[in-house]
Amino acid sequence: MKILVINAGSSSLKYQLIDVDNGNVIAKGLCERIGIENSKLTYKPTGKEPYELVSNMKDHTEAIKLVLDALVDPERGVISSMSEIDAVGHRVVHGGERFAKSVLLTDEVIKEIEDLSELAPLHNPANIMGINACKAIMPDTPMVAVFDTAFHQTMPEHAFIYGLPYEAYTELKVRRYGFHGTSHAYVTGRALTYLDKPASDTKIITCHLGNGSSVSAVKGGKCIDTSMGFTPLEGLPMGTRCGDMDPAIVAYLMKKLDLDRAGIDTYMNKKSGMLGISGVSSDFRDLGEAAKQGNKRAQLALDTFAYKVKKYIGEYAAALNGVDAIVFTAGVGENDRAMRAAIMKDMEYLGVAFDEEYNMSCPRGSEQVISKPESRVKVIVIPTDEEMMIARDTANIVRSYN
Ligand code: ADP
Repeated sequence: MKILVINAGSSSLKYQLIDVDNGNVIAKGLCERIGIENSKLTYKPTGKEPYELVSNMKDHTEAIKLVLDALVDPERGVISSMSEIDAVGHRVVHGGERFAKSVLLTDEVIKEIEDLSELAPLHNPANIMGINACKAIMPDTPMVAVFDTAFHQTMPEHAFIYGLPYEAYTELKVRRYGFHGTSHAYVTGRALTYLDKPASDTKIITCHLGNGSSVSAVKGGKCIDTSMGFTPLEGLPMGTRCGDMDPAIVAYLMKKLDLDRAGIDTYMNKKSGMLGISGVSSDFRDLGEAAKQGNKRAQLALDTFAYKVKKYIGEYAAALNGVDAIVFTAGVGENDRAMRAAIMKDMEYLGVAFDEEYNMSCPRGSEQVISKPESRVKVIVIPTDEEMMIARDTANIVRSYN
């Protein structure tokens, strides 16, 4: 079964064509600058020459059309006709409380996703553009929505409620939702295969550390807590997001810096975190380099991040009453060996025997256990694969309707 996975942003669209029966990625790529001049399609067919095409795409429908043209191109394509695509899986950021699982996209579901845009004004409208574009061009192909929030819907109320008047939750939907759920779900599934006990008895802490970062506590394969909240701004300090802080700072800074609502939003989402602390970059590679050259604020940013991840691990070990596995994933978790070492330092109290040497030398790009064999807690690096997760969910749902 061949599934086209679509991840639509406001001016970009990532895609992968995946054969779920053998797990092969048939082709993948990206449309950039949609609706802006000089839009560009990047196309990487597996086993054939990749290419780039600069071509104006005035909207997402034109972008999807170019993607499909590339996929069926007689010379450089990978399928002979569009009818080989059995279904389309769409990444959708916010499913609110309505969607605790992936779902077949009907007109009614699309309307409900639109209604949730209030909770994710930057993301859901872009996701809807991707959905409508596919609907316009492939009206008879079944489509599925896979939500970033869905995995976290198993959190108990005491974990998702904020200390605000209860009506903020019941009337205004203010609660912890959590994000990166598809990634946390994928690495949880993989981590379970390393543990010698029934899935229902397992306690796992998953650390998705990238440009955006979140940590989740997973008991018996189900999420019981996660660090991102009502929006992705809560939790760890990230590339450019501030993460947890005293909420009173918001009003103070608005007054002191004369910022309006949009201004404080930009300040906390785009100018803070690693970039804000270091004044150097939001990219962990740049920070590592700058710190090596003696830049103290770059080092401070890295230290702050490591300390905060460590605190979340401690918090979630308490919430889980122990831990069997700690998982590192995403750009930083998979690649930044020094950051993993800094986070895992002094964790013996938890039953972790961390293999410092292997952590610094193990290959990138594949699953690696970086704790010692005698460690009570397994520490595992697992490259995330959100697209594969979306493709599998899509295939399962479409099959269940056939
Ligand atoms: P997102 O999907 O949230 O945009 P990623 O998961 O791709 O982000 O992670 C991007 C981050 O991963 C960047 O900050 C980048 O610096 C970091 N990263 C990627 N490779 C390395 C590396 N080799 N060493 C350190 N950090 C890395």
